[in-house]
Amino acid sequence: MSGVIYNRVAFIGLGLIASSMFWAIKRAGLVGEVTGYARSQQTRDTARRIGLCDRICDSAIEAVKDADLVVLAVPVGAMAEIAQEIGPHLKPGATVTDVGSVKRAVIDAVAPHLPENVHFIAGHPLAGTEHSGPESGFAELFDYRWTLLVPVENSDEAAVARLQEFWQGIGAYVEVMDADHHDLVLAVTSHAPHLIAYTMVGVADDLRRVTDTEVIKYSAAGFRDFTRIAASDPTMWRDVFLNNKDATLEILGRFTEELFALQRAIRTGDGDHLHAYFTRTRAIRRGIIEAGQDTDAPDFGRKKAPQ
Ligand code: NAP
Repeated sequence: MSGVIYNRVAFIGLGLIASSMFWAIKRAGLVGEVTGYARSQQTRDTARRIGLCDRICDSAIEAVKDADLVVLAVPVGAMAEIAQEIGPHLKPGATVTDVGSVKRAVIDAVAPHLPENVHFIAGHPLAGTEHSGPESGFAELFDYRWTLLVPVENSDEAAVARLQEFWQGIGAYVEVMDADHHDLVLAVTSHAPHLIAYTMVGVADDLRRVTDTEVIKYSAAGFRDFTRIAASDPTMWRDVFLNNKDATLEILGRFTEELFALQRAIRTGDGDHLHAYFTRTRAIRRGIIEAGQDTDAPDFGRKKAPQ
């Protein structure tokens, strides 16, 4: 539908996000040739075996040679080192983007290593699963999901428009956003909820001797959804919290205050407070469904208990 937008695209890092982007690129015919590089031989071998990328390279420098778009798809904490390595080998006029879940820290880490004749436009697709690695990707991951583009100071408008067209060809809706605003929004919608899920699963694990297998047996009652989130990649999430420290701490501070207020309402038997609070939160869920960002099916459309 979109036609070729970039002649050559290079992926550095070949996990869930890069592999999903690759399959979506192929689905829409958006790119002439796609090269890829991952640090481990094992991931490169797997990529070659499953046909992930048109050409797998044994170094990042080789992968980015002559690339019109370079996508950094590694954990946030690994971006600086990669940028430093590839910086001197980028094609003049190329665009460099990333898919990291945090934006201010990535921009600060990557931008100083890139030459002036390259366009750096940070990015973040708001789509993912708890799976990782080169075999976890699928072409539909970004369909009807938002990708946020975060241009740096003096980003070239034509380069931003081209990257936007590329993401739309992948299936995503696109919005341009400022880095600090991005980090605050994501702290609310993703980072703090992940930390809460990790905590809840950790608490249940601490209790497991008392409850025996009940935690697993009766997990459908809410806990199962926490366990899915808490199964997300440990390296990725360690890096998210270390690199979005201020916004996450701000939101967790507010969360703790609200939690105390609810705790107090329970202790004092203030049913009106609880009811009003839960009515407000239910409306938020309805808004998400109306915006087409989740299913209306009961229990997320699960038909029967997993075996
Ligand atoms: P993933 O499936 O775990 O894959 C990560 C890739 O990065 C692998 O190819 C890995 O190489 C490579 N890598 C890991 N540590 C590295 C290091 N220190 N130096 C160089 N390469 C390294 O990860 P992903 O889920 O695709 O996430 C990639 C980026 O997308 C992250 O920045 C994450 O914040 C962001 N993101 C993730 C999601 C999500 O839900 N998963 C959603 C939106 C954005 P090897 O395989 O060789 O180890």
